[in-house]
Amino acid sequence: MSKEKAQEQESKDIFQSYHLSEKTTEAPLIRVMALHALAYCERLFYLEEVEEIRRADANVFTGRRMHEQLNKGPDVYSLELASEDLGIRGKMDCTQRKSGKLVVYEHKKGRSQKGAEPWPSDRLQVVAYALLLSEYTGEPVEEARIRYHADNKTVKIPINRDDAEKELEAAVLKAREIRSSLERPAVTAHEKLCRSCSLAPVCLPEEERFARLEKVKLQRLFPPDDDRRVVHVVEQGCSIRKDGDQIVVHFPDGNKKQLPGMAVLSLVLHGNVQISTQVVHFCAAHDIGVHWLSYGGYYVGGLSAGAGAVQRKNRQYKAFQDSQLKSRLVVRLALCKVENQIRYILRATRGNEGNGRDKTIDERIVGIRGEIQALGALKADLDAFDEQEEFSESREKEFANEVRGHEGNASRIYFSILPFILNLKEDHFLYFSGRNRRPPKDPVNALLSFGYSLLYKDCVAALLSVGLDPSFGFFHTPRSAAYPLAMDLMELFRIILWDIPVIGSINRKQWKKEDFDISGKQVWLNTEGRRKAISIYENRKQEKWKHPVLNYSLSYSRTIELEARLLEKEWTAAPGVFAQLRLR
Ligand code: SF4
Repeated sequence: MSKEKAQEQESKDIFQSYHLSEKTTEAPLIRVMALHALAYCERLFYLEEVEEIRRADANVFTGRRMHEQLNKGPDVYSLELASEDLGIRGKMDCTQRKSGKLVVYEHKKGRSQKGAEPWPSDRLQVVAYALLLSEYTGEPVEEARIRYHADNKTVKIPINRDDAEKELEAAVLKAREIRSSLERPAVTAHEKLCRSCSLAPVCLPEEERFARLEKVKLQRLFPPDDDRRVVHVVEQGCSIRKDGDQIVVHFPDGNKKQLPGMAVLSLVLHGNVQISTQVVHFCAAHDIGVHWLSYGGYYVGGLSAGAGAVQRKNRQYKAFQDSQLKSRLVVRLALCKVENQIRYILRATRGNEGNGRDKTIDERIVGIRGEIQALGALKADLDAFDEQEEFSESREKEFANEVRGHEGNASRIYFSILPFILNLKEDHFLYFSGRNRRPPKDPVNALLSFGYSLLYKDCVAALLSVGLDPSFGFFHTPRSAAYPLAMDLMELFRIILWDIPVIGSINRKQWKKEDFDISGKQVWLNTEGRRKAISIYENRKQEKWKHPVLNYSLSYSRTIELEARLLEKEWTAAPGVFAQLRLR
């Protein structure tokens, strides 16, 4: 056996005999990869390690694939080690003997820093591995190497034990200090790092810099579209099972439809649809939402995985005890809703005047000018509230009720105007004379209620994915039938995501009497009607629009999550951007 082969065999013997034992310790060991994140950006460390938010973007998947291929080599020894003395644990890519000495290897798919230097985060990572390996083998480890595959460079890093220990100790202390805090660290000052950060869509660093007036033009790091789809199962008697990584919908007639699990954003089960425990576990593990709606279209419940998001919920509870913040949010939300009502009515009625339609309708539109003025007066009051620098703490409840009163009056006026926007005669089966619900008494109210249920479901899903507790809101008062914070978030989207497309579909005569089940004074959408409504709603969600303040384009679907994230920023040091979305 050659000398080199003998050394390889020796390394194999050492490494193969080792199994990582889980030791219990007062201060949990810190993952070396978490230290890598810490050296990259303190906020990234906090999001991943403390809030346990981990997102695998395309870069992460490419990196994983590269490591899987690397680990197939015959002379590669991947090793998992832990040390209570060092306070860390980690799995290194590879260790080898070179000229009789142990060397730590780390592979990176990206480029080295200019001048073939290691990035600080990569350096800290191999320093930590070298110390772990040295402690485990009892041998000094004096060199680590990082292979940067994108520029085909290998960077050698000499390890001085004393310096390495000091560097690691400082990093572990910092990590422990950050881990014990309830507050997220500030966004990094090195903006370039954010562009390749997998958590930028969660962190929203550019929006935060914008809110703090540090930037006037921001770069969109928030994905404009969903690459996964929402799957509605409306046919009664269907069952959903799992086959490997596929979600399979079995229809009552024996047919089935297979869906790749990774392509599904959420499953929405309408009425009598069964789902297996295996699918529920799979969905919980892969961040796939599951929502149940009753046959009548009411939201019954949703799947929420694990406890999670403890720090985020704590910050939310604390924030909603701040009367200044609550009062400001209450006004901002009402203002956004009322302004969008006015903009929509003006847009919808402006186009109708003088278009050669039934003259009586044009005369009636002239007749709603008083209502539009009344809406304008309510908005002016809300504008004045919004301009207040301070809100009276002792009058917080009365003030919120006053604002809610304005919002309620505006909604009554808005619904009283809708018959003028709908192009219908009084004897038409879709004639609308006012809002009613639970149960809806006519087809238009059935449509409105069903669409709002879909929207409510999406708002609950967005809040859960952001890690907020939908039970604690600021505008809607607690009641058992619905989550107040989801109802709050919905107010921003009722008109944009449902009223506009559904009224458009009515005016385009897309609905038939056969789409509805009418029993006595109750009206529901039947299976075909629900399919039609879902298609209108989901298509609307995919439409792109330009956010009027952030000034970038994204789908309405993504906007729901964006607003939930911007809401959280109201109490995490970057307020002012939530509820600014306006119809053009
Ligand atoms: S997006 Fe930027 S600030 Fe946020 S965690 Fe990533 S690197 Fe840090």
